[in-house]
Amino acid sequence: MSTATATTPVFPTFEQVYQGLAGQIGMLREMAPQPTKSDEQRLKGAVDTLIEETNADEAVWLESCIHCGQCTNACHYFQATGEAKYAPMRKMDLYRRVYQREISPMRWWHRLVSKPVKLSDFEEASELIYDSCSECGRCTMVCPMGIDTASLVHHMRSAMVAAELVPPELAALRMEQKNMGTVFGSSPDALKQMVDTIREQAGVEIPLDKDKADVMVLSSAVDLVANGNGLLATAKIMNHLGIDWTIRSDGFESANFGLLSGDMSLWKHQVDPIIEAAQKVGAKTLVIAECGHAYPALRWNPMLSSGELPFEMMYMSEFLGKQAKAGNLKLRPLEGKVTYHDPCKTGRRGGAFDEPRAVLKAMDADLVELPANKEYNWCCGGGAGIFLLENATRLRDESFKIKIREVNDTGAESVVVSCASCRLNFEAGRQKNHWDKQLHSLVELVADHLIEDETTARGQARGAAA
Ligand code: SF4
Ligand code: SF4
Repeated sequence: MSTATATTPVFPTFEQVYQGLAGQIGMLREMAPQPTKSDEQRLKGAVDTLIEETNADEAVWLESCIHCGQCTNACHYFQATGEAKYAPMRKMDLYRRVYQREISPMRWWHRLVSKPVKLSDFEEASELIYDSCSECGRCTMVCPMGIDTASLVHHMRSAMVAAELVPPELAALRMEQKNMGTVFGSSPDALKQMVDTIREQAGVEIPLDKDKADVMVLSSAVDLVANGNGLLATAKIMNHLGIDWTIRSDGFESANFGLLSGDMSLWKHQVDPIIEAAQKVGAKTLVIAECGHAYPALRWNPMLSSGELPFEMMYMSEFLGKQAKAGNLKLRPLEGKVTYHDPCKTGRRGGAFDEPRAVLKAMDADLVELPANKEYNWCCGGGAGIFLLENATRLRDESFKIKIREVNDTGAESVVVSCASCRLNFEAGRQKNHWDKQLHSLVELVADHLIEDETTARGQARGAAA
């Protein structure tokens, strides 16, 4: 059985990467900022945020739930625990109360029959808004009214930012990204250091900070501070294809703790330099690293008119799939039976289903689909930042058992994922459950199966000359 990391000894194994990161995550709670405003200001900020962010879609979703319960079994946190409070429709209760009392046409009536909202209501809602909703969108697939619970939960996260009720781990990383521009210390210096390490130890060149390039690639904090194999693999593939590419130190970070915490201004603040850098280099394509939430942060960003940008944005699995479909990726066969986990943000919410499968086909992989796959794939339980939250440990661990059962049912020996967060959560679950499956990152798998031939050499020469 071939493995994703066995041929790249420059960096630690992913098992070691996970253990190292787990230590850093454990320290985040102590670094979290304390509330700075009065309780009255925090409550007013939360309510005002919901009022401001409620448009026609939100109003319709909040008005139209018929409490049919269809969504209940679709949520992995309910499935895993059987606890009614984790049913998706419960996660919008507080938002609906604010809506009914403050905005709805019948607000005069709701003010007579419902209790005023208090800060303690937002405190109590934290478990539903952060720990038990990965914003996976699975419940929307079965809702007869098409209610997008994930979006409503996201608005609630914005309200929680205003109420200074972001869970400590996300709050600490939000403040780091806001104040320092880094995530776990992933600075431009860390990028430069990683580029040098990859050149010196693996002999692979990374064209850092080119003035002009057809393709601009993003990296992520996980790649820079823990798993250099992700960036190394990306560089090997880009060089192999002879692509005119770059990575820019003024816009490289995929991770976005504005999106994860609910801080809209940080979300935008983090995305703007990436867009500017891509425009500056004249990129035709922006490739987003294997970082699931970076996909909605950029591609589906409500503050960006993505369609009007002079470049297209692609997730790494989409880019690889496009290359595979065009016959540009010549890959050695992948041995053993594998299954593929669709990250919620790129799959169900992004539609990137065919592309990763095209890559596996180019490896002649014996792919066996999970019982629930593509649009109905179960979230791994760690999305939307939940992987980082200590308070969510039980929910995360229990819901991951759904994934274990599903993978075991396929008889696959290994699981391929294309999201660093999913992969970390899978690794956590693998270690905790002494699970005998191997885990692969799609981009690392491709890099480790490249066939070097004359065509490749010609492509590389073209890339070098560009
Ligand atoms: S499926 Fe839709 S309408 Fe039915 S309870 Fe859930 S959110 Fe409400
Ligand atoms: S979006 Fe996903 S995690 Fe959130 S309530 Fe729906 S099914 Fe559950």
